[in-house]
Formats: sequence, structure tokens, C-alpha cells
Amino acid sequence: MSAVLVVIEHDRGHVPESTFEALTSARAIAGGLGVSVHAAVMGDGGDLAAAAVGEYGADVVHHLTSPNLGDYNPEAWGQALAGAVAAESPAVVLASGTDRGNELMAQLAARADLPFVANCVDVAPDVTSMTRSQWGGALLEDATLEADVKLISMAPHTVEASAAPAAGAVSELAVDIDDSLVRSVITDRVVLSEGITLSTAPVVVSGGRAVGSEEAFAPLEELAAELGGKVGCSRAVTNNGWRPHSDQVGQTGTRIAPQIYIATGISGATQHWVGAMGSKNILAINTDPEANMVTKAGWAVIGDLHEVVPAITEEVKKRRA
Ligand SMILES: Cc1cc2nc3c(=O)[nH]c(=O)nc-3n(C[C@H](O)[C@H](O)[C@H](O)COP(=O)(O)OP(=O)(O)OC[C@H]3O[C@@H](n4cnc5c(N)ncnc54)[C@H](O)[C@@H]3O)c2cc1C
Repeated sequence: MSAVLVVIEHDRGHVPESTFEALTSARAIAGGLGVSVHAAVMGDGGDLAAAAVGEYGADVVHHLTSPNLGDYNPEAWGQALAGAVAAESPAVVLASGTDRGNELMAQLAARADLPFVANCVDVAPDVTSMTRSQWGGALLEDATLEADVKLISMAPHTVEASAAPAAGAVSELAVDIDDSLVRSVITDRVVLSEGITLSTAPVVVSGGRAVGSEEAFAPLEELAAELGGKVGCSRAVTNNGWRPHSDQVGQTGTRIAPQIYIATGISGATQHWVGAMGSKNILAINTDPEANMVTKAGWAVIGDLHEVVPAITEEVKKRRA
């Protein structure tokens, strides 16, 4: 096979947006190489995931099967992927540069003794050179890649996922997984939030240190609810114990890509910006006109968030009435 093989991340059949972005990038790369797009899917719910990816341009979906493949397990999934690569010899293997995507590619690289370039933001048509994001997006690095099978991951939000229906023909491929690799097993699952999440919300209203306390997030909650969004925060806030870590935006929190990001009382430190830069539009509310978040935002209100946020909520309600 000469193809771009895309690693499909999923959780019991639910495929995240980042994987559809990876398929979108793979279509462009496959077009440049003149090859087709294949996908590799495995684990519990793999059949559901396989059915979803044809919509995004996978001509063939290799459904990897083994009694030892269940919920995500980096070693077992990594060995399965190595088996698929040995059997199919793709030109390129591409994953999304998420924690799981990069972990799986590292497993594959080690097993197949191949180099791996993570978090690419731009890839040359022949996949021999690329630009990758380093240090949480603070540095862009040019790299070259020489290998028979080229392993890359694309940084999340590099492209917007777009559908392009293809054949999506599913082909079963039995793979060998050593029993010794089934070392981590999910024994219990607790749902922390229902409905939209920080990473999928169309609107995120975040507060930083200047919010001042746990209780003072109430006006931000109200604005987010009015706009059908979620509340996020900076690390200064989680460090103070005002919000849980699951609300943190940034390098060590969640990377978001809403239609609009409202950042209030947040300076816009690099580690925060890395998580926010995928936003389509940014409104900064800050008393400091020189704050990073203000200079990077498309819109800014220079003022006290404790006055500006309730005023916006009031205006939204008035216009809706
Ligand atoms: C390894 C590492 C990882 C990190 N990961 C993350 C991460 O994932 N996410 C993250 O957010 N940070 C992260 N940080 C921390 C980051 O460097 C900053 O310290 C943090 O983002 C600052 O939070 P802040 O903007 O809320 O606070 P500050 O930097 O203190 O900014 C407060 C802002 O509020 C403004 N302000 C003050 N009063 C008002 C008012 N009344 N109304 C409106 N504006 C006002 C100020 O002008 C200022 O711009 C990380 C740091 C390290 C070292």
C-alpha cells in the first residue's frame, strides 16, 4: 500500500474533532503525494469509529482486531499500529498531536525504529521537510525527515476539519498483541461534565487572577450561560483553588477553539496563549492596554472586568428581550 495512514483516536466509538482535523490534513498531504488516505482504527467501539471516518476522506479503514485490544492502552495500541504499518507499508503515518496521538506515535516509532516528527503546523508536499511547534507554541522549528515510512503528528487546530466523503471501505486486519502488554486496564469511568466541554464550546468566558475569588466568577458564569458557552480560567485561578483544573485553558490545561473567547483579567502569558490561540475571535477585557492578551486580541475593552462583564450580560439580555 502506498498511502497516508491516519491513526484514529476514539473513545468507545466517539471520535474527537482533532482526529477529523488530522484526516483533513492527511487529504492535502495524500493529494501532494498522489496516494490515497487510509485509516487505522482499533479497540472497543472501533466499528463505530470506523463508520465515522469515511465521511472525512478515508478511502480504506483498517480495523485492527485482537482479543487484547480494548479501551485505550498505549502499549497494546502501539503494537497493533506497528503490526498494521508492517503489513501495509504506508508512505506516511499521521496522527493528531494530542497527548494520545503523540504517545501512540512514540510507541510506533520505538517499535518500528523510525524517526517521528511531532506537532507539525506545516508539511512540504513530499513530506521531507516540515515546521513544527515546540515549547507549547512559543517556538517554530524547521525540521527535515528522511525515512522509508514517515511518522508525523499535526498540532491540534492547525486546520479546520472539513468533510469530504470517501469510500471508507472497512477491511479487518488481525494483529498480534502480547498478553504482557495489557498492563493498564480501565476499571471505572466517572463523567466529569455532560454536554459541551471547554474544548468544544462555541463560546468560552475565562477569568484570570483579577477576578479575585471563587464567588466572583458568578458574573462570568451568567455571561457564559447567556451565550451558550463555558467558563474557563487561567492557572493563577486554579493555583488559588477558585476553579478546578478541568477549567484551565493553556499549555497545562485545555486547548480551546471557540468561535469567541472572552478573556477577562488575564495577562495572556505564553503558557495561557498556547491554549487560547486556536480561538476564531478574541475579546480581551483588561485594565492594562499593554497586556499581551489585549495586543493579541481582535477586540478589547480597557476597563474593570467587574463592571464590564455584567454590562455585557445586561446588553445581551436587553437585545434578546
Ligand atoms: C510550566 C508552566 C505551565 C503553565 N501553564 C499554564 C496554563 O496552562 N494556563 C495558564 O493560564 N497559565 C499557565 N502558566 C502560568 C502563566 O505563566 C501565568 O502565570 C498565568 O497565566 C497568569 O495568570 P493570569 O493572567 O490570570 O494572572 P496575571 O498574569 O497576574 O494577570 C492578571 C491580569 O489582570 C489584569 N487586571 C488586573 N485588574 C483587573 C481588573 N479589575 N479588570 C480587568 N483586568 C484586570 C492585569 O492587567 C493583568 O493583565 C504556566 C506556567 C508555567 C511555568
